[in-house]
Amino acid sequence: MAQGSLRRGTEPSGWRGSTRILSRRFLAPAVFELELERPAALGFRPGQRLRLRREGCERDYSIASSPGEDGLRLLIRLFPGGKMTSNLAASAPGTVIEGSGPHGYFLFDAAGKTPVFVAAGTGIAPFRSMAASGAAGFVLLHGARTAAELFYRGFLEARAARYVGCLTRARPPLPAGTRPGRVTDALREDLAPGAYDFYLCGRSEMIRDALQVIDARFPQARVFTEPFS
Ligand SMILES: Cc1cc2nc3c(=O)[nH]c(=O)nc-3n(C[C@H](O)[C@H](O)[C@H](O)COP(=O)(O)OP(=O)(O)OC[C@H]3O[C@@H](n4cnc5c(N)ncnc54)[C@H](O)[C@@H]3O)c2cc1C
Repeated sequence: MAQGSLRRGTEPSGWRGSTRILSRRFLAPAVFELELERPAALGFRPGQRLRLRREGCERDYSIASSPGEDGLRLLIRLFPGGKMTSNLAASAPGTVIEGSGPHGYFLFDAAGKTPVFVAAGTGIAPFRSMAASGAAGFVLLHGARTAAELFYRGFLEARAARYVGCLTRARPPLPAGTRPGRVTDALREDLAPGAYDFYLCGRSEMIRDALQVIDARFPQARVFTEPFS
């Protein structure tokens, strides 16, 4: 398995300064989409992230929108008591936020093997950006508690060769396009033998478990990771 980053070359145009919240929309009780005004100086590639700063606290968020869209969309899970997420969840449109970006090298290689996107929860954000920028024909495994947390499902399913929502808390009968269990179960049981590039994004526990399965089943695969914690 080869792990690493793609195209560590030219950095898109960098930005450090202030922007403001255009809108905040809850997609689930503890997950909201934040739209920020896009600073003119900010150029980025799908898969990259922003670093937000508020009241002495700095946190990274993957950009869910594509470079071709006007605003900047972030998909954020609210942690009760979390310094940044509690603050953002309570911030009204118009609130000014400090930040910088783009950061990171979790980039899509369109010339690679069949892409398998594996996301846990809000880890779906960079894949939405990649799909909105033209990535298609990928296999997508999205882990969530219930079907209501399969964010951007319709958008992604329309561009995927195969879409599997992996639900840990849903009761049967499960909706079409979903299965019970974790993304690691889908990697172990649902993915046919083949040559793949894996892209993993979300909690580090998910990434660790997924890497074990990939090592065992697809030892030649390239793997790109974006751990959230
Ligand atoms: C590269 C990168 C990209 C990221 N992109 C996103 C993104 O697109 N969307 C998003 O929602 N988050 C993303 N994160 C996580 C984000 O940066 C913050 O860590 C998260 O929002 C919590 O911040 P907080 O200040 O509210 O919580 P904190 O005050 O830092 O922590 C509150 C509590 O929540 C726990 N906690 C924090 N993060 C997690 C987690 N991921 N899983 C489980 N427990 C956790 C902490 O251990 C603590 O107990 C990303 C992180 C990294 C490193």
